[in-house]
Amino acid sequence: MWITLLLPGCKFFSEAERSAPIIVFTFDDQHLSTYENAFPIMQEFGYRGTNFVNTNAPNLGLPTVMTWAQITELELVYGWETGGHTLNHEALNQLDLGVALANIKQDHQNLSDHGLNPRSFALPRGQCPIQLYTMLTQLYQNIRGSSDFAMHHPLNRKALGYLAFQSDWSADIVKRRIQRGILSQEALIIIGFHRFDVDDDEYGNSCPSPTLREILQYTHDLQLKVLPLAEAVSQ
Ligand SMILES: [Zn+2]
Repeated sequence: MWITLLLPGCKFFSEAERSAPIIVFTFDDQHLSTYENAFPIMQEFGYRGTNFVNTNAPNLGLPTVMTWAQITELELVYGWETGGHTLNHEALNQLDLGVALANIKQDHQNLSDHGLNPRSFALPRGQCPIQLYTMLTQLYQNIRGSSDFAMHHPLNRKALGYLAFQSDWSADIVKRRIQRGILSQEALIIIGFHRFDVDDDEYGNSCPSPTLREILQYTHDLQLKVLPLAEAVSQ
């Protein structure tokens, strides 16, 4: 996509046209607040996201976890992407190799069994022994790690970074990250969220709904392309 951008606080690009990064919003760990709080805001802007699901979790009937009906609705009705994230959020470097292999295959199978089309995988805690990595890359087209770095063309779809939102952040931190990506002509920026509007924020990664809306308004105002991960890396 070729667009002309005027960034707040920045001078107008000297070149009239530049390619802009595609923005991906990912939502990890099947939190109900993603469905109840974030999904409606994504809808306001016509955006679709990527859900990374631990596929044993929806079977547990926990009140803060999305149901399979909600997970499948997001993909099959609204065109979101659903990706693998292990059965129970295991750190893969802490499992025996055979156990880890079976875990990843079963997680992928669980998504397929629900009529979903898993193409992307997010490494829990960013950890992956090299012996597993080969199998992962055969099963999935796209692998997301857990650290943020600049991603330029040509993209390495098997080693993607992301910026994980932290609960003490303002929207400005994410906006500045996006500004930086535009100025340095990054191809892709992945912004990751976990939970929304929780009172007991023991993990330090809850995002207030107004902050999410402010971030989405920003990408909307800049006319950035926002896509699920598998579509973004295929552009
Ligand atoms: Zn996770």
